[in-house]
Amino acid sequence: MIVIGGGVIGASVAYYLSKKKIGVLLLERSDFASGTSGACDGMIFMQSKKPGLHLALALKSRRIFEDLPEKLGSDIELRRNGGMIIFRSDLELKAMAPFMEEQKRGNLGVSLLDLHQARELEPCLGPNIAAATFCPLDAQVNPLCLTYAFLKAAKRHGAKLFARTPVTGFHVKGNRIYAVVTPQNVVATRSVVNAAGVFASQVGDLLSLTIPVAPRRGQLLVTEVLPPILTRCLLSARYIAAKYDPALAEGQNPGFSIEQTGNGNFLLGSTREFVGFDKRTTRDAIRTILMEVTPILPRLKEAHLIRTFAGLRPYTPDGLPILGKVSTPEGFIMAAGHEGDGIALSPITGQLIAELIADGKTSISLEPFSLERFIPKEPS
Ligand SMILES: Cc1cc2nc3c(=O)[nH]c(=O)nc-3n(C[C@H](O)[C@H](O)[C@H](O)COP(=O)(O)OP(=O)(O)OC[C@H]3O[C@@H](n4cnc5c(N)ncnc54)[C@H](O)[C@@H]3O)c2cc1C
Repeated sequence: MIVIGGGVIGASVAYYLSKKKIGVLLLERSDFASGTSGACDGMIFMQSKKPGLHLALALKSRRIFEDLPEKLGSDIELRRNGGMIIFRSDLELKAMAPFMEEQKRGNLGVSLLDLHQARELEPCLGPNIAAATFCPLDAQVNPLCLTYAFLKAAKRHGAKLFARTPVTGFHVKGNRIYAVVTPQNVVATRSVVNAAGVFASQVGDLLSLTIPVAPRRGQLLVTEVLPPILTRCLLSARYIAAKYDPALAEGQNPGFSIEQTGNGNFLLGSTREFVGFDKRTTRDAIRTILMEVTPILPRLKEAHLIRTFAGLRPYTPDGLPILGKVSTPEGFIMAAGHEGDGIALSPITGQLIAELIADGKTSISLEPFSLERFIPKEPS
């Protein structure tokens, strides 16, 4: 079994497959975690997921996180402190009301807080917010530690991991894959998992498969280490709305995300831009993010920025990942397109793909996540 991609998704797939005693060869064209999984936040947010399939998947994943550090035998800096959505105005609160109503059915235990209650939970919040919601299930992890923890555990279970090994082609006989090609080798295999993140579509091109995963840039700012002043991650309501509404995301104000890492640095974000594979940061975005976050956490006005960077979210047109077998060629399995949720969804993704390959059936139907959902149906 070959897994293409050494980001959090490929690493998780390799771990769960090798745990099921399936021989795994993971091929990463650059360094492990050098793609999006090394250029992102680490929020495991339930409140940001679309009620329905998306939220159900996220909740299953959240449950797996509970004892994941013990299972992986690594510190992944998991913090289970809950998370908050910040509403800047009553108008925002009103606009998000239907989304929140639907969320109630997901049993997330979300409570609506006024300014006073929100500041009781997070005393460093400024006075410029209308309301907040708190969800005890929201959590946080270090994405780099998580990716490496999956990789190390996969290796312990017998997986073989190769960095600097790009997959450049496939050999297909009849309708079935029987080998992958790298610059050094042709490796025989009957199954391949495409976990190439934003490059999943380029891997698909090698098989003339159209895979609608596109890069959606997110810019992040990093502050110097500060004393622990924020216990929970914060997202603005607008940030969530922009995720599902490209018009909002492209506008002047895509909302914000605020996270204090285990080290004490703050990660401040983030944009949602379709600019191809361009990973540069821009003055406009840096300015916008700072203008957004400083009224929320006034303490940040005194903080020094030490770095900015951008990552590329693997966007799909309906916001759901693409998971499972493709109809043709046989042996090609998708695990890509997680947009801004790949860290949160990594455990369940790895688990489901391993079930599919090892057991031939999955505990959650993968049909709604299939690549085929994007193929227009022939009129009957
Ligand atoms: C600014 C920002 C903030 C985010 N915040 C969060 C968050 O708070 N919570 C959350 O859950 N998610 C978040 N995300 C999303 C999350 O980071 C991604 O969904 C996740 O990292 C995708 O993982 P991946 O393994 O699919 O992709 P990647 O990490 O990109 O891994 C794919 C790997 O495949 C390799 N590859 C590509 N082509 C080939 C080839 N031909 N052969 C071999 N290897 C190949 C690449 O080099 C790469 O290392 C954020 C993303 C961004 C940009």
